[in-house]
Amino acid sequence: MIPIVPLASTGASAPADTKSLWLQPGQLSLPASPPLSLYVHVPWCVRKCPYCDFNSHAVPGAADSHDIPEDAYLDALRADLEQSLPLVWGRPVHTVFIGGGTPSLLSAAGMDRLLSDIRTLLPLDADAEITMEANPGTFEAERFASYRASGINRLSIGIQSFNDRHLAALGRIHGGGEARAAIGIALDNFDNVNLDLMYALPGQTLEECAQDLETALSFNTTHLSLYQLTLEPNTLFAKFPPALPDDDSAYEMQDLIEARTAQAGYRHYETSAYARPHREARHNLNYWRFGDYLGIGAGAHGKLSFPHRVLRQMRHKHPATYMAQAMAGNAVQEQHDVGAADLPFEFMLNALRLTDGVPASTFFNHTGLPLHTISRELAAAEKKGLLEADLATIKPTELGRRFLNDLQEMFLKG
Ligand code: SF4
Repeated sequence: MIPIVPLASTGASAPADTKSLWLQPGQLSLPASPPLSLYVHVPWCVRKCPYCDFNSHAVPGAADSHDIPEDAYLDALRADLEQSLPLVWGRPVHTVFIGGGTPSLLSAAGMDRLLSDIRTLLPLDADAEITMEANPGTFEAERFASYRASGINRLSIGIQSFNDRHLAALGRIHGGGEARAAIGIALDNFDNVNLDLMYALPGQTLEECAQDLETALSFNTTHLSLYQLTLEPNTLFAKFPPALPDDDSAYEMQDLIEARTAQAGYRHYETSAYARPHREARHNLNYWRFGDYLGIGAGAHGKLSFPHRVLRQMRHKHPATYMAQAMAGNAVQEQHDVGAADLPFEFMLNALRLTDGVPASTFFNHTGLPLHTISRELAAAEKKGLLEADLATIKPTELGRRFLNDLQEMFLKG
């Protein structure tokens, strides 16, 4: 693996220099650029949830944009985007995802400005999917109508549970009533809505999981994301772990979720994602297909392809540092090109999450490596019954989806 290189040590001091640096000959040979998406990070939340390892910073008592440095942050995002343009020049952007944090802390005018900056600077597809994340407790009907009018056309709501006791255990700022009210406001304004829910919560029974699921299904949204709660390093839950349901109970919950979502007409198309027909999350599909994404905002990650390399970037993480550095022309804290030895694993880490897998040609098209680079690993995974691979498709079997980590690890190089 090629180590992460602080930007300063690459000698790249201006965007144009950076671009020419990444255009130099390299180990890979990509036939074309993969589809491009844009990710925008908004790093503030009202409170830090004890399970959360995202780059989110608590603004205690925050109710809206007055409590965060909105104007300064929007200035920094625009500066960051302007500095990034040489790296994606002329490439159409198919999807935008405004995530966090809690983007619904932004004012209607602030969101309008952000979208207009994006449209001014990037060639956004006419039918681009533009998703925004929102959390109950920050919903205000008029503001959400404005978000829609500004061009947001998909909403992803962090519900997590409808059960007050579990929401309190998760440290969320909302209760079940607010979760329901938020979905009502969302559905009044948007026809494409995702609900994020978690299961295997502290003290949760199978019946309580079923109740959460039935409540979520009753809203008939286009998309559901159902995540098992895991204890991530550097979180409060990792330090003071709550008692979670055991593995067998978590499996039972997963089986219940798969059965009920299928009955209700959702397709389980990715490890944690369930969609109505043709309502898959296009932005996330681009990640899973190893597409490109420019990531702007505090701590945002990006992946960009060039004819002979795949570049990964990370912006400065702390909001204050990010804003200062972006305004000084240095939003990127670290970047490195992904070595040829690491690309197969990075590709498979994403592609194997998809129930249908990916066309085999995607491997060459998006890594610049011939498929025979991984023929030994493909054959070994097939022999174990974890994978179906032919010249047309690379696809996990049902067993492979259940033991996804084992399958993905088979593509790790020595
Ligand atoms: S609301 Fe979401 S992003 Fe914010 S702290 Fe909680 S889990 Fe993290």
